Amino acid sequence: MTALTASQTHLESREITTGEPLGTVELSTPDRVTSAARRAGAAAPAWAATPAEERAAIVERAADLLVQRAEQAQELLVREGGAIPGKAYFEVHQAAQELRHGARLARHPGLPHPPADDPERTAEVTRVPLGVVGVIVPWNFPLLLAARSLGPALALGNTVLLKPDPHTPLSGGRLFVEAFADAGLPPSVLEVVHGDADAGSALVQAPDVAMVSFTGSTEVGREIGAVCGRLLKRVVLELGGQNALVVLDDVDVEQAAAAGAWGSFLHQGQICMSARRHLVHRAVAEEYTEAFARHAAALRVGDPYRSDAQIGPVIDRRQLTTVANAVEQAVAQGARLVTGGRPQPPYYPPTVLADVTEQMDVFHTEVFGPVATVTAFTDDAEAIRLANTSDYGLTAAVYTSDTPRGELIGRQLRCGVTHIGDQTVVQDAALPFGGIGASGNGSGFGGRASLEAFTRWHTLTTSTP
Ligand code: NAD
Repeated sequence: MTALTASQTHLESREITTGEPLGTVELSTPDRVTSAARRAGAAAPAWAATPAEERAAIVERAADLLVQRAEQAQELLVREGGAIPGKAYFEVHQAAQELRHGARLARHPGLPHPPADDPERTAEVTRVPLGVVGVIVPWNFPLLLAARSLGPALALGNTVLLKPDPHTPLSGGRLFVEAFADAGLPPSVLEVVHGDADAGSALVQAPDVAMVSFTGSTEVGREIGAVCGRLLKRVVLELGGQNALVVLDDVDVEQAAAAGAWGSFLHQGQICMSARRHLVHRAVAEEYTEAFARHAAALRVGDPYRSDAQIGPVIDRRQLTTVANAVEQAVAQGARLVTGGRPQPPYYPPTVLADVTEQMDVFHTEVFGPVATVTAFTDDAEAIRLANTSDYGLTAAVYTSDTPRGELIGRQLRCGVTHIGDQTVVQDAALPFGGIGASGNGSGFGGRASLEAFTRWHTLTTSTP
């Protein structure tokens, strides 16, 4: 995608690898975004008053329709977003699961609340919808990241104003519009607007938007958080990650390296949860680095629509340059390039940098691409210290065959989600997920976290005058 211009009225979606047009959407001026928010606001009271069971059934029907249309959705994710077919298949089915999970929350009776202190007063304490939820998502998982807000927000009685990323207007917008309309969602309960920063900023500021659910970069998240603070709007921020995969000295090195390669290079490393920093026990570090680089180099790079590639294109040329520059800088600072490192636009090969120290920028900066670093540590305390040496705090993992040792380390890692016996990329709609520090403002998704994020308390007390 090239940058949008002020006079542009439409956005043409194009296949990343060939530039072939895939479809067109109308761009929304800030005024149009505000009007769409107003329509969603007008639809909110009737939707909130719709029985939870009815809302849940519509959201589930939309999930079923997404799955029925999986082939079309997968093709779009591959051509528009550069996904390999396996990632696209996972995304469609996981997006449906996120919607179903929202429906399940709406049916959940909730926990009973303790009574009022005043014996003369009866209290009805409930979780009620917020009104219009504004949802802004990036391009890397356009369907899944939107679905994890849409499912709970809609099923719990909010209306939604969704803004997909301009790289993925069809997979991140059109598919939902069609599925929800065919599922019987009333008009304006879901509004979709298209555009980039201007449209996003208008969405955040629209008076009818009560809450913003933002997934994207830390830089933009900070800006949106500041605006929401000023406007006193609730905001969920799911931002970047510089996730540590800790590999202990008791592992099957081949197996650990294969898992590590999957965690670092799935979707070209363009996942917030990607394993970016491999922290490896010194006793196995050399062997691990060799095996990890071998797995990385064996991945087939190419057009995911026309070949059996395992590594597709990087989202755009600007990002490719950013990735290439970060690797050059790391090498200049003393990192050892073990494999990869040579851009072949629109592709960037899986790249492994070893001997990376905490003095290097690449240890601290999220390189949103197929680049992973290896740093050796001497004991568990050092692994914990290194893992926690980051402004980010999204996911982490401890690869070990000694579960209690892994759990002991895992509980000391400063991040939102830690996996023991696995790598860092794991998605479960039922479990709270959310980063801290530069990764966001806490758990906004999954299980009770979604319920808390997308509803608020309302207390109704009754007494006899
Ligand atoms: P980005 O922040 O540039 O864009 C994300 C969305 O915000 C897009 O829809 C964009 O149009 C919109 N936007 C841009 N500027 C805006 C503004 N000023 N006001 C309102 N909206 C605005 O994100 P990106 O760099 O394209 O995406 C990759 C980043 O997202 C990475 O840092 C990645 O780690 C992060 N991410 C986080 C999660 C998570 O769950 N924590 C998931 C996926 C991606």
